[in-house]
Amino acid sequence: MRIYNPFMPELPEVEVTRLGIAPHLEGRKVSAVKIIDGRLRWPVPANLSKSLPGQTVHAIERRGKYLLLQMDTGYLLIHLGMTGTLRVLPSSDPLKIHDRVTLEFGKFSLRLHDPRKFGAVLWHPKSKGPIEVFALLQKLGVEPFSPEFAGELGADILYQKSRKRSVAVKQFLLAGQAVVGVGNIYCSESLFEAGIHPAKAAGKLTRPQCSRLAEAVRLILKKAIAAGGSSLKDFVNSDGDPGHFMVQTKVYDRKGLPCKVCKSPISQIVQGQRSTYFCTQCQKR
Ligand SMILES: [Zn+2]
Repeated sequence: MRIYNPFMPELPEVEVTRLGIAPHLEGRKVSAVKIIDGRLRWPVPANLSKSLPGQTVHAIERRGKYLLLQMDTGYLLIHLGMTGTLRVLPSSDPLKIHDRVTLEFGKFSLRLHDPRKFGAVLWHPKSKGPIEVFALLQKLGVEPFSPEFAGELGADILYQKSRKRSVAVKQFLLAGQAVVGVGNIYCSESLFEAGIHPAKAAGKLTRPQCSRLAEAVRLILKKAIAAGGSSLKDFVNSDGDPGHFMVQTKVYDRKGLPCKVCKSPISQIVQGQRSTYFCTQCQKR
């Protein structure tokens, strides 16, 4: 079951976007680039309309919430910001209000639609080195599904990165410096799954708690991506709006409703101006 929430795209939404558009674009050559309004979070480089045509999309990868289109001479980075969506549409489809950038591929085009303009389209030339050196990617934690975060290695990372940190574990996770992709909804759900109180100081996490938390993060994100899998066809449909999906939540947005494990009412607190939901009985400090 999918639940639509009016929140910004998080890692599962970006990963499903990648899965949705990659089969249509990989191996294709850009015929034109149209920058309709390049005033996004950072200005869209104007010379893309000259430098990209003729280049092939070799692969579409993802790092954190950045989509990385591997081109002949570098990487095109796309971030969906708060409200961005990407669609593959026939080139003949008229542009819509809030369409910001299009990549044309002959008869079809990839369109970035972004009402609030917090998204980004950036360029990293191969001449500046591998994509990992790109400033916005350098501080990101490991990928939750990478070999580095598999099994007990993930627990090791959470344990080591949290030592001496007095910040609440919820905010520690949300910051993404240990592992990327655990957005606000997924933080609440992962901590519930691991039985950890969201206000517990990160530095006080025990090694077994880190082990449970790493496993919970992988499980929750995997479920969200699987839930979004049913929306893949929406990426080639101008009416489709996959928005935000999540498998049915156990605590998130369930304040006062009975815990699905112990029946106690779910609590809500605010941490760093974001809502956290948890069960006072199932989650211990
Ligand atoms: Zn409970």
